[in-house]
Amino acid sequence: DQAELQRSGAMTELPSMDQLWMPFTANRQFKAAPRLLVSAQGMYYRSHDGRQILDGTSGLWCVNAGHGRPEISAAIAHQAQEMDYAPPFQMGHPVQFEAANLLAEIAPADLKKVFFTNSGSESVDSALKIALAYHRARGDGTRTLFIGRERGYHGVGFGGISVGGMVANRKTFRGSLLPNVDHLPHTYAPNHQAFSRGVPEWGGHLADELERIVALHDASNIAAVIVEPVAGSTGVLVPPKGYLERLRAICDKYGILLIFDEVITGYGRLGTPFAAQYFKVTPDIITTAKAVNNAAVPLGAVFVRNGIYDTVVNGSPDGTVEFFHGYTYSGHPLAMAAAVAAQKIYKRDQLLTRVQDDGIAHYWQEALHALRDVRHVKDLRNIGLIGAIELESRPAGVGKRAFEAFVGCYARGLLVRYTGDTLALSPPLIIERGQIDQIMSTLRDVLRTID
Ligand code: PLP
Repeated sequence: DQAELQRSGAMTELPSMDQLWMPFTANRQFKAAPRLLVSAQGMYYRSHDGRQILDGTSGLWCVNAGHGRPEISAAIAHQAQEMDYAPPFQMGHPVQFEAANLLAEIAPADLKKVFFTNSGSESVDSALKIALAYHRARGDGTRTLFIGRERGYHGVGFGGISVGGMVANRKTFRGSLLPNVDHLPHTYAPNHQAFSRGVPEWGGHLADELERIVALHDASNIAAVIVEPVAGSTGVLVPPKGYLERLRAICDKYGILLIFDEVITGYGRLGTPFAAQYFKVTPDIITTAKAVNNAAVPLGAVFVRNGIYDTVVNGSPDGTVEFFHGYTYSGHPLAMAAAVAAQKIYKRDQLLTRVQDDGIAHYWQEALHALRDVRHVKDLRNIGLIGAIELESRPAGVGKRAFEAFVGCYARGLLVRYTGDTLALSPPLIIERGQIDQIMSTLRDVLRTID
C-alpha cells in the first residue's frame, strides 16, 4: 500500500513521460512499463519502486569507483560555488591543468598531452581531427582516409558512426557518412573462439587484413586506424592473441596513426589504467570519457603522443591558434573538479589495478564460465572485469531473449546490459566476491526461467 511504498523509498507517483524522447531506448515499450533509478550508493541503485538494484554495469561502463563518492560530490559543490564556468578559448583555469597533470601520470608511454571533450563521441571526433591535423602539419595532407572495423562502436557523431561498424547506427544515415573510410573485418569467430577465457588464441592473423587495405588505398592516403582494444557495445569482443601487436606493427611500417578507443576500457577496467598497458601495445592517440571522472559530470579526454602535439602546435606561426577545434565546455570547471577528485580516489584506493591485484578478474572469470551449461548460453567471453553471455537467439528475432533476461534480472535486483542477444557485464571496480556470486546466481535463475 501507499504507506509501505513510502517507507521503502518508492515513488508513489511517476512523472508524465510524454514529452521526453529517450536516447537508445524503445520509447513506447519503456513508457508502458518504466524502469526508473532514483538514487545510488556504492554498488547499488534504488529503483522507483523502492528496490535495491545491484549495479552490474557501472551505470554505463562509467562509475568505476562506485556510486555516491562524497569526495567527488564535495569537489563539484565547492567548484560550483568558487567558479561555475570559465571560457576555455584563449583563457584557462587552474583545475583543468591539475586534471590534465593527474591524467598524464597514468597515461602510457609518451601519451602525455590531454585534450578535453564532453563525451566519448566527441573524443572520437577530436581524435580523428587531431590525426588529420598532424599529417597536414607534417606536409602529408593526402593522408585523410580512416580505417575502422566491423562491429566497432565509436559513439554517435558522424565521425564515430562512419568509422564504426554497428549497422543499426549506420543504416539510417548511410548517405551522409564520411566518404573516406574503410573497415577491417571484426575479430569474432565463434567456431574458433567460443568459451575462451580471456584473450582467444585464434585470430591474431586477422590484423594482416590491414596490409590488404593499405595495398588497395596506398599508405600515402591513410591517416589512422581506429579500434576499440576490447569492443564493448557490439557484444564484448576480446582481441585475439597478438592481434593488437600486429596492427601496431603494420601502422608503424606505413606511417599510419593508431587510435585506441578506450572509452570503456580506460581507467582500470582490465586491471591496468588503460588497455594499452594491459596488452603492452602503445597507440598514438587514446580516446576516453565515462570513468575519467567516475561519470559524475559529462567529460571526455583524448590522450595524444607528445610528438603529435609538438608537430601540430609547433607547425603554426607563433600567436596563431594551432588547432581549430574545441567545445564551449572543454575543461568545464565542474567536470574538472570531479576528475581531480575521482583520479585521487583511483590512486589512493589503487582501483586502477585492483581487479588484477586482488584476484578479482580471475574470480570473475571462473564465476562467469561456471554458467557454461546454463540454458540458452551459446558463448561466454571475459577479460578484466568485463563479461559477456551470448544467448541463442529465438527464431522470432535477435535480441528478444536478451531483453527478457535483462528485464528478469532487473526484477530480481540486478542491472545488466544487453546488445543483440548478448548480456554484457561491467560492474564497478570496487565489487566484492559475494556480489560477483550474486550476479551469477541471479543470471542463472533468470536464464532457467525464461524461454
Ligand atoms: N566509444 C566507445 C568505445 C564507447 O563504448 C562509447 C560509448 O559507450 C563511445 C565511444 C561513445 O561515448 P558517449 O556515449 O559518451 O558519446
